[in-house]
Amino acid sequence: MAEIRLSGRPASSGFAEGQLYVLPDKRVSRAPTGDPDLEAKALRNAIILASEALADLATTADGDAADMLGFQVAMLEDDALSEMAFAAIAEGKPADIAWRHSMDQEIEAYRSADDEYFRARSADLEDIRDNVLDMLSGGTSAAPPPPGAILIARDLQPSRFLGIDWSKGGAILLSEGSPTSHVAMLARARGVPMIVGLGELPRSADGIALIDGGSGQAILSPERQSLDQFITRRAEDDNLSARAEKLLLKDAMTKTGEAVTILINVADPLELDVISPDLCDGIGLVRTEFLFSEDGSFPDEEAQYRVYRRLVEWASGRPVTIRTLDAGGDKPIKNLTIDGESNPFLGVRGIRLSLIRTDLFRIQLRALSRAASHGPIKIMAPMVTIPSELATVRRMMAEEFEGLKAKGIAAALPPIGIMVEVPAAALAMDLFDADFFSIGSNDLTQYVTAAGRDIGSVADLADPRHPAVLRLIAMIATQGKKMQREVSLCGDAGGDPALIPLLLHAGIRCLSMAPSMVARAKLIISETSLSGDVVTP
Ligand code: PEP
Ligand code: MG
Repeated sequence: MAEIRLSGRPASSGFAEGQLYVLPDKRVSRAPTGDPDLEAKALRNAIILASEALADLATTADGDAADMLGFQVAMLEDDALSEMAFAAIAEGKPADIAWRHSMDQEIEAYRSADDEYFRARSADLEDIRDNVLDMLSGGTSAAPPPPGAILIARDLQPSRFLGIDWSKGGAILLSEGSPTSHVAMLARARGVPMIVGLGELPRSADGIALIDGGSGQAILSPERQSLDQFITRRAEDDNLSARAEKLLLKDAMTKTGEAVTILINVADPLELDVISPDLCDGIGLVRTEFLFSEDGSFPDEEAQYRVYRRLVEWASGRPVTIRTLDAGGDKPIKNLTIDGESNPFLGVRGIRLSLIRTDLFRIQLRALSRAASHGPIKIMAPMVTIPSELATVRRMMAEEFEGLKAKGIAAALPPIGIMVEVPAAALAMDLFDADFFSIGSNDLTQYVTAAGRDIGSVADLADPRHPAVLRLIAMIATQGKKMQREVSLCGDAGGDPALIPLLLHAGIRCLSMAPSMVARAKLIISETSLSGDVVTP
């Protein structure tokens, strides 16, 4: 097989090299007895066996894994789960068909839940379904993969993950899956590199694969040169990780003694379940697009309020910057964003869309205002281009806050800032009455370089290291100082070890990044000496 390079969504970082192994589906073969009593007995028995097997597995697990298995055992022991299957058996359906059918309905209900937490739990139910089916057919599940293998699958169920021996290494490549699924959480907890959303993957595979989970890159059947590069990168990475980990919970400080504020970006609140707030000074960006489900339904005020409140509680007094919906561009949302725009990145996206769909926007503002009564929430508007957009946001926020107060509902009026990601806003910052500014380097770079962030063939041009981008960032930092307003940077550049020194030299002292980048960022910062002057190319 010729070398194949794949790129997907990072779900668990780390490097792995191993034999490719396509994980076969679990097989279910069973002859029905034709007797409803015997079928019911067979199902009852299979449920007991499946829950005993999970309980056994739980004795070897700890932390999240033990919780997850406990959740599955509790679900299996709840009669409500099997009620529908037993009713179908009484009507003459074979046990396996009745069970599969009733579980599929249950899984679908979880999959289409508004709350991402419940959607992510659908994989647990699939797991429960398949374990019982497996027991019904006499436990004929597929043989475990060889230790250390790089697994290829459509998706992977948590108990299957836990049934695999990861002590010899290995990694997971999924054509579907989600970084917020239980199995991704388990993979992160166990240090198993995992990439999801890879699309079409080979159905049969031989040879080896190289995985860089942190960047979401995989190379199947690598050529000699790729292998050599990989080995060098992995060795460097191991060394850096060991040094970085020691700084994870420390304040970030440059070699010359300047303090740097470290915030984290949150794409999904589930990520926070496994990290300590002590690693950061707050949340610099919450991408609220995760609230909008793929089925085209919108979260109501209550659902949003609960999520925002949970973020505030997690942050334990640290500031939480929540960005209002940034739909459009690379983030289309069913039933909301406008189809067929000739260039969606230059179209109705971010605040432009919110100010058209004020019905939805006001719901978000109310939920934010209510959550702000529990802690220091800051509201951030994306894609702001002209000052009147911000002024409208302020007016609407004040109206919603007054409305809540008049009804006696606990609420607060949070500070309101803007993303600086449109060059027009960057170059005319002084005209914006913002409480704070946060540079969206991903969009700012694409708009400054006229190179789409999602177009691979111009990726070299869409480079935040371009002197024009760095000079603009330095201008923004200087202008923020002049206005006595906080300036942070929350695009991917903020967590990129190659860019952090350049951003510090450009005058940025507050960086917001993915939680997994924090340790490395602190290490890079600790090795950077600043002269006191702003330095740009
Ligand atoms: C950015 O543009 O840099 C940013 C942080 O926002 P997003 O990547 O969500 O557009
Ligand atoms: Mg952006």
